[in-house]
Amino acid sequence: MELKMYTVSLQTKLSPQFIDITDDVDAFVKISEIDKGNAVVFSPHTTTAIIINENDSKLLQDFADVLEHLVPKKQNYNHNTSEYEGNGHSHCRQILLGSSETVLIEDGKLCLGAWQRIFFVELDSPRDRKIIIQIMGNKNL
Ligand code: ZN
Repeated sequence: MELKMYTVSLQTKLSPQFIDITDDVDAFVKISEIDKGNAVVFSPHTTTAIIINENDSKLLQDFADVLEHLVPKKQNYNHNTSEYEGNGHSHCRQILLGSSETVLIEDGKLCLGAWQRIFFVELDSPRDRKIIIQIMGNKNL
């Protein structure tokens, strides 16, 4: 079994912002030369998430509206004390969405459905972020 790790650095610009990283993950699968296994896409932050869904700008706006409805920005959060940054809503949204996704690899390709894309989601004020991608599995010899 082979195990490879890659890191992507990026600068976010909005909140929420949905950044389609499927092509990056796909490129790392090719570089890894792993034919059968899985790729874990992980965000090492408490106010960003990784999700899989369709890259349709109207859907993503719908989901931004859903996040605002479920976890409003302007609400009292215990986390919003002077000690912290007033980003209780960002943390709570992240807890609902999660930090990672796992995608299976078969024949050297991600086993994503026709409409599935992998997104990095910024839920806090824009800043420098990173994504860790771990690819594990077997190479065809
Ligand atoms: Zn915070």
